[in-house]
Amino acid sequence: MRRLLALAAFAVAAGSLGLAYYWAASPSSQAYGAIVRNGPRQLPLVALTFDDGPNPPWSLAIADVLERYGVRGAFFLVGENVKAYPEVAQQLAARGHLVADHSYRHRKRDSLLDPRYRELDRAQEAIAEATGLCPALYRPPNGFHTPWQLRTVAARGMVTVGWDVQPSDWTETSAEELVRRVLSSARPGSIILLHDGLDTRHGADRSSTLAALPGIIEGLQARGLHPVRLDELLAVAPYLPDCPRTAHRKGA
Ligand SMILES: [Zn+2]
Repeated sequence: MRRLLALAAFAVAAGSLGLAYYWAASPSSQAYGAIVRNGPRQLPLVALTFDDGPNPPWSLAIADVLERYGVRGAFFLVGENVKAYPEVAQQLAARGHLVADHSYRHRKRDSLLDPRYRELDRAQEAIAEATGLCPALYRPPNGFHTPWQLRTVAARGMVTVGWDVQPSDWTETSAEELVRRVLSSARPGSIILLHDGLDTRHGADRSSTLAALPGIIEGLQARGLHPVRLDELLAVAPYLPDCPRTAHRKGA
């Protein structure tokens, strides 16, 4: 009997842990706090977002295509990559794209193991040093989130942003297929997840995403969906007035 009870207790504990992990790993889960996954559904607007840069030459090549269509993207930058390529981050910001926080090292374990989630501030510092701007928007690496991570983001006055359209462009997929996937699921208010980098790998090939962009933008526009900058879609401030450590800010 005692053994049976112990077994039942173990099963409950394992089940709870499994559920807790599922909530953390599921990008759409709201169990641990608010994650914004789309803008207003009643307006014909969408936003194009790019994760894991800066990653030359792809980040600025993507920016070039966006600008050809008069579109500005949101770039969720990895702090370590910003340290390696600060001039790319600076260029993106100077050309009117949104720069945002995507952690410092792009690792799940930091979200899981650091109750203060210092990765957030580390990335903020790197981005502020490179661009003079302090992002107000954050996206968890791989969508993996914990209660303490989301609490840290909220305590900074920042907003956690997910997505509702993701064509899995980090896998080997043709440009045509990426266009098809995005256009088949985009609707008013959609936040579209694409990648100009791949975690912290330098020079990761993003040619499919780059080649898909004209088809994605033209296809969206043909459906009456206009890509705007993410902060405009969400009607939120793009940047904070000050980063935690202002000593690194340009001119400070
Ligand atoms: Zn990422």
